[in-house]
Amino acid sequence: MKAQTPKIRKDFLVFGSPLIEEAEIQEVVDTLRSGWIGTGPKVKKFEEMVGKYKGVKHAVAVNSATAALHLSLLALDLKPGDEVITTPMTFCATLNAILHAGARPVMVDCDRQTQNIDPELVAKKITKKTRAILPVHFAGRSCDMDALTAIAKKHKLALVEDCAHAVETEYHGKKAGTFGEFGALSFYVTKNITTAEGGMVLTNDSEYADKIKILALHGMSKDAWKRFSDDGYKHYEVVYAGFKYNMTDMAAALGIHQLPRVDRYWKRREVLWNRYMEAFSGLPAFLPPAPEKDTRHAYHLFTPHIDVDRLGKSRDQVLNELTKLNIGTGVHYIACHLQPYYRKLLGCKPGDFPNAEFISERTLSLPLSPKLTDEDAADVIDAVRAVLR
Ligand SMILES: *Cc1c(COP(=O)(O)O)cnc(C)c1O
Repeated sequence: MKAQTPKIRKDFLVFGSPLIEEAEIQEVVDTLRSGWIGTGPKVKKFEEMVGKYKGVKHAVAVNSATAALHLSLLALDLKPGDEVITTPMTFCATLNAILHAGARPVMVDCDRQTQNIDPELVAKKITKKTRAILPVHFAGRSCDMDALTAIAKKHKLALVEDCAHAVETEYHGKKAGTFGEFGALSFYVTKNITTAEGGMVLTNDSEYADKIKILALHGMSKDAWKRFSDDGYKHYEVVYAGFKYNMTDMAAALGIHQLPRVDRYWKRREVLWNRYMEAFSGLPAFLPPAPEKDTRHAYHLFTPHIDVDRLGKSRDQVLNELTKLNIGTGVHYIACHLQPYYRKLLGCKPGDFPNAEFISERTLSLPLSPKLTDEDAADVIDAVRAVLR
């Protein structure tokens, strides 16, 4: 049979383009006209909404998940040489946050199918210096939280969940980000809901929440948040060398309209996910396993692993061919232990984590935004079928 020339989509389909609706646009305009564009009432409202959605006592808004992770780890008072166990199959921000908090990231391999950290390997890596476990709910699939919480409890370790992919994720009826000391959410442009840039720390501990609020705003005592309010100017005290990590009302203006649509967007991504699963079965690619029983997958990323041996093309070749057909893609991720900085600093090297490396060489993220129309999804499917033929 003669191969058909693949159809080239008219315009480039941007990977991870967010769905922004009229209510956000109006809210941003309202914020601009209100005279209060910095941290104010809209941030407070968004924090209350997220706290309620996640069922936690405290949700503290910051300007990224990176900041949320950094402050969570700082709040644990880690000492130089303390170790935090995490996965190589994550964004560099996860490791950078550990380093900036003064600790040493200790990576252990992930599972090849779920792409999540392997609890058995976590248990094996615990030393006298281990202080925390930092699991990442990859693509929105929950890690094995029964195993991880048991390990944390047994060894008295803190649990900090990277929930950058996991707004909607649930495990055995409990929301991701609420299992341990802290959960960190991201509202970056490509994430499930967005504030352009933004993040949130989740915690049930009031002391930790206070500390995070102080650290997020220059280390000023908490009255500082209200020092320009209508009950008069208040002096502040500096109690830490803090950071400038506060979220603005401009950003929260987006969040307070994105969050109520979280289920609608999730349902749309589930439809797209299922269409992809059906359309790609039989192609030379390993597709994501079905969500585990009694969990909710957040469907943040659809990441087939190209069967490069069967196809006879590298992942990068596939990626370039899809780009030529006007389909934007992502790669989540090249494993952290292969990155030059961590290799130099931590002494990790190729061969250390075979599953993460297997994924690094084969993974490809396809567009999964709720902004995708049925025609967009059909274009993605046609292009992938053509390239993987
Ligand atoms: C996006 C992401 C982050 C960082 O989020 P920002 O809000 O951009 O700082 C951290 N970890 C993972 C797994 C991510 O995907």
